[in-house]
Amino acid sequence: MTRRHYPPMMTFHSPECPALAGLLDQFESMPVDRAREKYPNHHFDLCAAVDITPYVAVELAVPEHLYDPSGTRPDDAVRSLCRKCFGTHGEDEGREVINVRPQQEPPSGLVIPGA
Ligand SMILES: [Zn+2]
Ligand SMILES: [Zn+2]
Repeated sequence: MTRRHYPPMMTFHSPECPALAGLLDQFESMPVDRAREKYPNHHFDLCAAVDITPYVAVELAVPEHLYDPSGTRPDDAVRSLCRKCFGTHGEDEGREVINVRPQQEPPSGLVIPGA
């Protein structure tokens, strides 16, 4: 079995959603069938829940964040799902954000006042 990345949780909006008025060009929009396929992890916004719209605008359901592994890994996922978005962070470079900051070591010879 090939393991894959899971996309993050997405919100599907109807293109007429009042919350997206004037901002529509900032969101990816596509036929709802393709959106479901591309983002299996999704929920419909209230605007799209009532009427099944042929097209949806896709919005990231959670704000940008660092990968926060939950320890739950489906068999075909490359790594455990993120606690915040249920994705694996890694479909593209922008989301491959894992908090691995190197420890800052004080420069050698630094004299700490009072130490
Ligand atoms: Zn909406
Ligand atoms: Zn995440």
